[in-house]
Amino acid sequence: KITGGQRVDMFGARLEQLPHIWRRLVDAGFESGHAYGKSLRTVKSCVGSTWCRFGVQDSTTLAVALELRYRGLRAPHKFKLGVSGCARECAEARGKDVGIIATDRGWNLYVGGNGGFTPRHAELLAEDLDTETLVRTIDRFLMYYIRTADRLQRTAPWMADVEGGLDGVRAVVMDDSLGIAAELDAAMAQHVDRYEDEWKATLEDPEKLRRFASFVNAPTQPDPTLAYVTERGQRRPATAAERAAGAALGMTDEPVLVAGPTLEVRA
Ligand code: SF4
Repeated sequence: KITGGQRVDMFGARLEQLPHIWRRLVDAGFESGHAYGKSLRTVKSCVGSTWCRFGVQDSTTLAVALELRYRGLRAPHKFKLGVSGCARECAEARGKDVGIIATDRGWNLYVGGNGGFTPRHAELLAEDLDTETLVRTIDRFLMYYIRTADRLQRTAPWMADVEGGLDGVRAVVMDDSLGIAAELDAAMAQHVDRYEDEWKATLEDPEKLRRFASFVNAPTQPDPTLAYVTERGQRRPATAAERAAGAALGMTDEPVLVAGPTLEVRA
C-alpha cells in the first residue's frame, strides 16, 4: 500500500523473509521509512508553487530537504512534519508536530499539532522566516523536545508541560534564553552527519541478521503458527475463525522458538 505519508507498506512478510526483501529494496535504491521507530515518520507536502497556481513557495523542495535532514532522528515519540505552499493548507501542516505554511515573504512555523485520539492544531511559533532561519529553528525545536520530553510524550503534551509553554519554547529556540542553542545545533549537525539507513547497515551485520530467524536450529524454517488467506487477490493473516476451520498445522519435531512473528521493540 502507498500510505498517506508516501511510504510503501509491504504486508504479510515473514520474519525470515525480511532481509531478502530488504536486500532487493536497498539494491534498487530504497531506504527504510522508519514506520517502526519513535522517530520522524514523514514530511507531507502539497505540490506548491511548482504545480499550483496558488502556491507562493516551493513546498515540495522544502519537504524533501527536511525529510533528508531529519530521517532516522530518534525522539521520545513519533513525529511528523507538513509543508503547505500557501494558506489554503492542502498538506494539513497544522495537524503535524511541525507544520510549515508558505507566505509571500517566507514561511510560517507552527509546532505541537497532531491527529489521532486527541487531535490538536499546531500553534504559531514564528512568522515569515527565510529558509535558513526556518531550518535552524526546527533543528532547535526538535532537539529541545528530544532532550526534555518524557518517554512516549508527543510534542503537544510536551508543550503543555514544558516551562513557559509556547512562549517558553519560543524564547529557548529563537532567543537562546537558556544558552543552549549552540549545543542543540551541534546535536542536530551530528545527527545529520551520522545518519545511515538502518536496513542497509543491518544487511551488512551478520550478528543483527541472526535476529531474523524464528528458530535457532532451523533458521530458514517459517513460523508454523502463521496462517494466511486470500482476500481481494491479496494475502492477509487468517482470523481465529478461519484458522480453526483450516487444516491443522501440527509439527512433530517442534523447533525452538526464539522470537515470535514480530521482533520485540523497545518503547
Ligand atoms: S496549499 Fe496552496 S499551493 Fe499547496 S496545493 Fe493547496 S492551494 Fe496549492
